[in-house]
Amino acid sequence: FLPHLVASMEQVEETYIMVKPDGVQRGLVGEIISRFEKKGFRLTGLKLFQCPKELAEEHYKDLKTKSFFPKLINYITSGPVVCMAWEGVGAVASARKLIGSTNPLQAEPGTIRGDLAVQTGRNVVHGSDSPENGKREIALWFKEGELCQWTAVQAPWLRE
Ligand code: UDP
Ligand code: MG
Repeated sequence: FLPHLVASMEQVEETYIMVKPDGVQRGLVGEIISRFEKKGFRLTGLKLFQCPKELAEEHYKDLKTKSFFPKLINYITSGPVVCMAWEGVGAVASARKLIGSTNPLQAEPGTIRGDLAVQTGRNVVHGSDSPENGKREIALWFKEGELCQWTAVQAPWLRE
C-alpha cells in the first residue's frame, strides 16, 4: 500500500483544452465540450478567440525546432479557437485519454480524435500534457478575471 501514490492520483488538476480552428469550422464545438462536461470535470473558463501568431508560438514553444512548426502556427491561427479551462481529479491524464493519440488514425474509437478526425495536422483539439503545463497554458490563454470558480450541484454524485 503506497499512500503517497493514492494521494497523487487524487490530485485536483487544471487542464487547458482547446478546440482548434478545424473543430470550430466543422461545427464540433458542442460535441467536444460535451465530452468533458459529461465526464464530470468542472469548467472554469470558456471563450471563442482568434489567436495571434505570438501566442501560438509561445504555446507551442517546445516544438519550435520541429519541421512542422510553421504549418502548426498557420493552422492554429487560421480561424477562431475555443479556449477552455477544466478542473478535476486527475483531469490532465484523463483529458488526454478522452482526446486520444496525436495521429487521429491511431487514436482509439471513442476518443475525440479517434471519432472525429483523420490527420495529425487537423486533429481538432488540444489538451495539456502535464499539470505544470495545464497551469502554464491556462495562464497564457486566460486573463485572471476570465476564470470562474463555482461549486457544481452534481459534485456529491460524482465522488463519494
Ligand atoms: N503536429 C503536426 N505534425 C506532427 C506532430 C504534431 O502537425 O508530426 C501538430 C498536431 O496538431 C499536434 C500538435 O502539433 O496536436 C502538437 O504536437 P504534440 O506532439 O504536442 O501532440 P499533442 O500533445 O497535441 O497530442
Ligand atoms: Mg502536446
